[in-house]
Amino acid sequence: MKIMFRITALLFAAAVAQPVLAADCEFTVGAGDLLKFDVAEMSASAACSTVKVTLNHVGNLNAQVMGHNWVLAKTSDVQGVAGDGMTAGAASGYVKSGDARVIAATAIIGGGESTSVEFSVADLVVGGDYTFFCTFPGHSFVMQGKFKLDA
Ligand code: ZN
Repeated sequence: MKIMFRITALLFAAAVAQPVLAADCEFTVGAGDLLKFDVAEMSASAACSTVKVTLNHVGNLNAQVMGHNWVLAKTSDVQGVAGDGMTAGAASGYVKSGDARVIAATAIIGGGESTSVEFSVADLVVGGDYTFFCTFPGHSFVMQGKFKLDA
């Protein structure tokens, strides 16, 4: 009888967890005319086949002055990716072409614009140390947050 109850409870938990798992695969991040994302931390589920991140620039300044993108890399790679991105320049969206350290990156956008990126988390490590950041020159030092992959 006790076992039966446990199985029922597990099934119930699984049914309830379903929509939560789906929600963990899609994120919306906002940024305005300040060097700040409105999300400090994201936790995606390793069960996601792909993760989709939409970046909304809710400010007024254009992409040349206050451009933002959303780039994901291992925390230890942030400085290198941002430095090479700056060298790559605006034409490359401040991300070096073919940079293997970049897990995902959106285009650079300005006020009122929106962009998104969809990427696989298959090669990411559960519990690994990842950071999302903006590679617009001078932004990465303060404009960043933690990205976690949960089992
Ligand atoms: Zn930025």
